[in-house]
Order: sequence, then C-alpha cells, then structure tokens
Amino acid sequence: MRRKSTLPYYPSLDRYEIIKKLGDGAFSDVYRARDRRTGRNVAIKVAQKYAIDDTMIDMQHLHPNMKKKPRMTERANILKEVQIMRNLHHPNIVQLIQFNESRENYFLVLDLCEGGELFHRIVDLTYFSEDLSRHIIEQLAHAVYHLHEECGVVHRDIKPENILFEPVPIIPSEQRKLHIFDDASKKDEGAFIKDVGGGGIGQIKLADFGLSKVVWDSSAFTPCGTIGYTAPEIVCDQQYSKGVDMWAMGCVLYTMLCGFPPFYDESISALAQKVALGQFAFLSPWWDPISQEAKNLIQGLLCVDPSRRYTVKQVLQHPWITGKQMLGPNPT
Ligand code: ADP
Ligand code: MG
Repeated sequence: MRRKSTLPYYPSLDRYEIIKKLGDGAFSDVYRARDRRTGRNVAIKVAQKYAIDDTMIDMQHLHPNMKKKPRMTERANILKEVQIMRNLHHPNIVQLIQFNESRENYFLVLDLCEGGELFHRIVDLTYFSEDLSRHIIEQLAHAVYHLHEECGVVHRDIKPENILFEPVPIIPSEQRKLHIFDDASKKDEGAFIKDVGGGGIGQIKLADFGLSKVVWDSSAFTPCGTIGYTAPEIVCDQQYSKGVDMWAMGCVLYTMLCGFPPFYDESISALAQKVALGQFAFLSPWWDPISQEAKNLIQGLLCVDPSRRYTVKQVLQHPWITGKQMLGPNPT
C-alpha cells in the first residue's frame, strides 16, 4: 500500500517513515524520515532524474504538424554528487547512507542534521560571538581539509544554507558555557547571552555536493596521462580552484561575525565589480569590538589573488584558530 506522504513511492524506501519536508529546491526536495527498523532519523533528498533542456527537439521531420518538444536530459550532476559523497567519510561532512533510483527520481538517504541550516541560526541571532564563529569555522576547515588535501574535491557551493548543524544537547548552562565558550568572559556579553539563549551549535556538517568537482593535484597523474601535456591555464585553474572554497569560507566568517555579507549591492553589476576588486570593509561600529586576528584571517581569505589567498592548512594554523601568536604579515 502506498504510504500517506508526498514522497514519490519507491519500494526500498519503505523502511523509512516520512515525517516532514525540510527543504525544497528547484530540482530536489528534502524530507525528514525515520528508519522503522533502527529508529534512526535520516534526511532523504529526492531529486528529479530528468530536467527540461533548453534545446527544443524539432519533430517536424516526422510530420509537418508536429510541434517542437522540449528535450529531457538526465541530471548527471546528481550522479556526480553521489559518486563524490560515497568517498567522503568525515565527522564534519554529511554522510550518504543509501542511494536509490526509480524511473523518475533519485533518492539520497543522508545523515540527519537536527539543527538545520547555519543560515537560519544567523538570522535568529543576528550575529555570532567570536567563540561561536571559531567553533564553526574550525570544523568547516576540517571538513574542507578532508576535501582538498585528502580527497582532491572542491565543494564550490560553501554558504550558510549548506552548512548544517547538530544542536548542543540540553545540558546545564554552566557546563554548556565551558563546552563551547571557554573564554566567553572576554567577549561581548550580549552576544554570548544571545548565543546560549538561542541554543548552542554543536557539530557542524557540510552538505550539498551538487556543484562539487574532483580536481587533480599538480603533482598527481591526470585522468588522461601525466600533467606534462596539460596546458598551463588548466594546471593553474586546477591549482587555484580550491581557492573558491577558501573565498567562500571568508564570506561565511565575515557574515557570522557581523550579520551581513562582505559584498553587497542592489545592482548585480556593481556587486560583481566589488567582488572582482575584493572591495569590502570592516564597517564601524559593527567591527569595532572584533579582534585583529579575526580581521587578518578574513583578509587572508578574501584575497583577490588566488595564489596568495590562504589555503585550508594556513587557516588551521592561523592564530585566530589556534589561539597562538600572530604568524606574519597580512597577505593583502
Ligand atoms: P539543493 O541542491 O536543493 O540546495 P541541499 O542538499 O542543499 O539541496 O538541501 C536543501 C536543504 O535541505 C538544505 O539547505 C537543508 O535545509 C535541508 N537538508 C539537506 N540535507 C539535510 C540533512 N542531511 N539534514 C537536515 N537538513 C537537510
Ligand atoms: Mg543547497
């Protein structure tokens, strides 16, 4: 019997009881579900297998009265997303549990992140304290280290909507303070109280590998031979493509600390110009109480020249993360 839900029917998903819809996008819907056998909560991402192509198929060679028909193409990017996710096993990356396909849909059964999107938490709290931001960026950097340095994968869509989290378990507030905000006493008391009041953020998990890509390492063999025959622009592109994730990390950190993004303009062309020139500022009064170390890290990440932009290794060694002395001058 078909279960009462809007999830498209697929037999091997019968073991899951659909609870509610968590999110919907242009080509996919995400549901919260429960494994009937184990009681484990999961998220199921259902993606349409085919998308209407921009190109129209001309049917008139079959009959003059036949109209042009839009072509349906298989959304190969979902398969790429699955292929990449299958090889990723990291505490800060959403785990793919199961993959199925029916005639019309793909089903990705994923680890459920009960806290939802970091984006919503920024909206709830306006901005985060430096401690809470560090707690998140450090975990994000560990996820990106696994992608860049251990798997040769570039995510290419890091943003607060794709950073999900587990809430901190309900524990007495004094312990919670020690758990996350070790040096909270030094920080903005208002923001700290707001963080705790809004519920703490525990483990974060990077999600949505829909745009991710495998890149070659300059020292590695390419799929079609050695790097020796590859054009310089390809080598450079591969080398610096990891930088897009680092730039995005800079944008996430900036936004967490003040509540608004580093680049903004009503006009798209003016915004593109600001991004191209790396034109952002630490606006007063919002940035006045924020440490020099945090600003230095943002400058290193929002560096227009990708060859000078901080790598994930540099982020993990940065004094704002480690709490040690500043290492050297700004890269900008
Ligand atoms: P899209 O390609 O449509 O952006 P995502 O994988 O980003 O697909 O999922 C869309 C939204 O669904 C996310 O922004 C999040 O709100 C929710 N979501 C996705 N995966 C999970 C998960 N594992 N746990 C909880 N919520 C999730
Ligand atoms: Mg997404």
